[in-house]
Amino acid sequence: MPDLKRRLEGVRATIDSAERAHHRAPGSVVLVAASKAQPASAIRALAALGVRDFGENYVQEALAKQAELADLALRWHFIGRIQSNKTRDIARHFHWVHSVDRVKIAQRLADQRPAELPPLNICLEVNLDREHSKGGFAPAELADAAFTVAALGRLRLRGLMAIPAPREGFAAQRRIYATLREFFERLRAAGLDLDTLSMGMSGDIEAAVAEGATMVRVGTALFGPRPAR
Ligand SMILES: *Cc1c(COP(=O)(O)O)cnc(C)c1O
Repeated sequence: MPDLKRRLEGVRATIDSAERAHHRAPGSVVLVAASKAQPASAIRALAALGVRDFGENYVQEALAKQAELADLALRWHFIGRIQSNKTRDIARHFHWVHSVDRVKIAQRLADQRPAELPPLNICLEVNLDREHSKGGFAPAELADAAFTVAALGRLRLRGLMAIPAPREGFAAQRRIYATLREFFERLRAAGLDLDTLSMGMSGDIEAAVAEGATMVRVGTALFGPRPAR
């Protein structure tokens, strides 16, 4: 897969140079490959090139791929919209959930996380653009939700995630991610032990790293255009 290798090198170079340019520690940004609609073979090929973290949006699709890739030690991140009737599978089969957007969903994940597994790592999704069509906590409800979720057993609240509407230009991209970083810093100042900012996609990796992203979720820039589902 020469294309995959070339694209991975490009994405890694983008992350590395953004870390250097914006005074981030080398290696402080984790690349999560957003592998929705990609076949298990593409994930296997990226794993062979050193990628360990994969983000999936659809539970059934993810479980099928996980079964095919069970021989690999991968970290699975759920990054899609969460329906209540899917929380049991998510609680059992993922290491991270980035897209928790209701306290009720967090409570279900906490209740359903198997006792023999380590706590499930959680990010709360924030609806930065106040788009009604999108999930995420409104900024005004975020702090209460964060303290409630942080107190739930079987979960470890790690930080915040956002999927802002695409913006043209570095300055505008930075500005929206700066608002997520401010929410994150405020929660930390209020006493929550958070270490994760999940922000940045193919088109705005540098802006996200500049504003403190610790995880970027990258699909198209790694895999090329997504196949139709
Ligand atoms: C698909 C997806 C991504 C990756 O998007 P690209 O623009 O293809 O890099 C990141 N985050 C979430 C939540 C996604 O669904």
